[in-house]
Amino acid sequence: MPTTALYRDDFYLSTLEAVVTAVHEDGAIEFDRTCFYATSGGQPGDTGFLERQDGQKIALAQTRHGDSKDIILHVPAEGEARPQVGETLVQHVDWDRRYRLMRMHTACHLLSVVCPYPITGAAVGEEESRVDFDMSETIDKDQVTADLMRLVAENHPVYVQWITDEELIANPGIVKSKNVRPPVGLGRVSLVCIGENSSVDSQPCGGTHVSETQEVGAIHIAKIEKKGKENRRFRIRFGAAGDLA
Ligand SMILES: [Zn+2]
Repeated sequence: MPTTALYRDDFYLSTLEAVVTAVHEDGAIEFDRTCFYATSGGQPGDTGFLERQDGQKIALAQTRHGDSKDIILHVPAEGEARPQVGETLVQHVDWDRRYRLMRMHTACHLLSVVCPYPITGAAVGEEESRVDFDMSETIDKDQVTADLMRLVAENHPVYVQWITDEELIANPGIVKSKNVRPPVGLGRVSLVCIGENSSVDSQPCGGTHVSETQEVGAIHIAKIEKKGKENRRFRIRFGAAGDLA
């Protein structure tokens, strides 16, 4: 049964009451609606816990999609209790972790503004994120950090605009990733916009992001690795450049 993914409309929703619609043999739980982000587009799915009426907690190890994008599977940790179909539970996202992922994910968008090359891969992490670009140029990482921190300090708004799958297919130029499939298949695509009237950037993305660039906080490029003649891997970390943290 399709799950209404409320995180798509509110990235800051961290708790929600929802009804169990299915419990799979492997323990994975489906709900009528959810605030848990399911792994996709380089952003890992949420962890956290489910709270039963009697206060018992069911720890969640991961959240992922089922056979289709509208199925969201909440996977409990080993040995956790199984809820009943029809049971109402309160979902609690591990917000500290998710917020770090939102800050990091937004930082990856800013990097694609500073380095306007086609993206060949990306992975958002709690401590470090990486973005691969199709580029052969050598670029100074401290300059990239300075440009990123300028965009952070300028505190641009970050917001979502919805377009149809057809509008995206008619405008292939707005997709920056080369071999990453744009988030089509739900009938509508979220365009993540940065700056008033998308003055800084807009690109299709189904992940979760902070609402203004200042929330990203201090970040820096820790490393730029050469991965083949025309591929550069950028590693983004939290903290100011030179911090040992
Ligand atoms: Zn994104």
